[in-house]
Amino acid sequence: MNFILLGAPGAGKGTQAKLLSSNLDIPHISTGDMLREEVKKLTALGEKVRVYMAKGELVPDELVLEAIKKRLQEDDCENGFVLDGFPRTLVQAKDLDRLLEGINKRINLVIKLSVSPEVVLSRLSARQICEFCGADYNLETRPPEKEGKCDLCGGELVQRMDDRNEVILNRLEVYEKQTQPLEVYYREQNRLIEIDGGRDKDLVLKEILQIIRKDDRA
Ligand code: AMP
Repeated sequence: MNFILLGAPGAGKGTQAKLLSSNLDIPHISTGDMLREEVKKLTALGEKVRVYMAKGELVPDELVLEAIKKRLQEDDCENGFVLDGFPRTLVQAKDLDRLLEGINKRINLVIKLSVSPEVVLSRLSARQICEFCGADYNLETRPPEKEGKCDLCGGELVQRMDDRNEVILNRLEVYEKQTQPLEVYYREQNRLIEIDGGRDKDLVLKEILQIIRKDDRA
């Protein structure tokens, strides 16, 4: 089962991808996490992408495509994967289809998480992530047990550089202009399912799992 989670920043793609990954025992592949890791490690790729990420702009397609191509051909993707934050442009979506066709695979379902702009803003401005392991928290709805410290590894909790209010607004605009067209692309191919992502994470997960069980495209 190969899935894409689609939706605006703050729609809950990362949260659901992690839950699906452990429920279905398939890897969670987040291009955002992959790129943040490169920035943290000060690699050549990290240096190239840092400026785009800080402004909430998309990183050039060719840089992301190179990284994801390698990742999708690793052994743990054999029984499926859940993509979070990729593809984000039509060029990426078409390239992904071509790549998968070449290795006899395809995307079974694209699950779009819909949320209102108000929910997005409140979720992202209250989000903190662990600098060390990437676990994420919401200071209002899912705070850590000890302020400023990750429950899982004790790492420092920080705000993502692109979760500042002025950058959030730009990310939402970028989503609308560059990523929203993908909804049409996948809907026309009858691969898109839209669900309400504004609810509690366990309810959203339950609905996704039900869809996966019943839908013969999955
Ligand atoms: P995310 O963690 O998915 O919100 O991604 C954080 C940032 O990483 C985005 O705002 C982009 O700058 C960059 N990024 C992540 N995935 C992609 C992608 N598929 N294409 C281009 N840029 C990306």
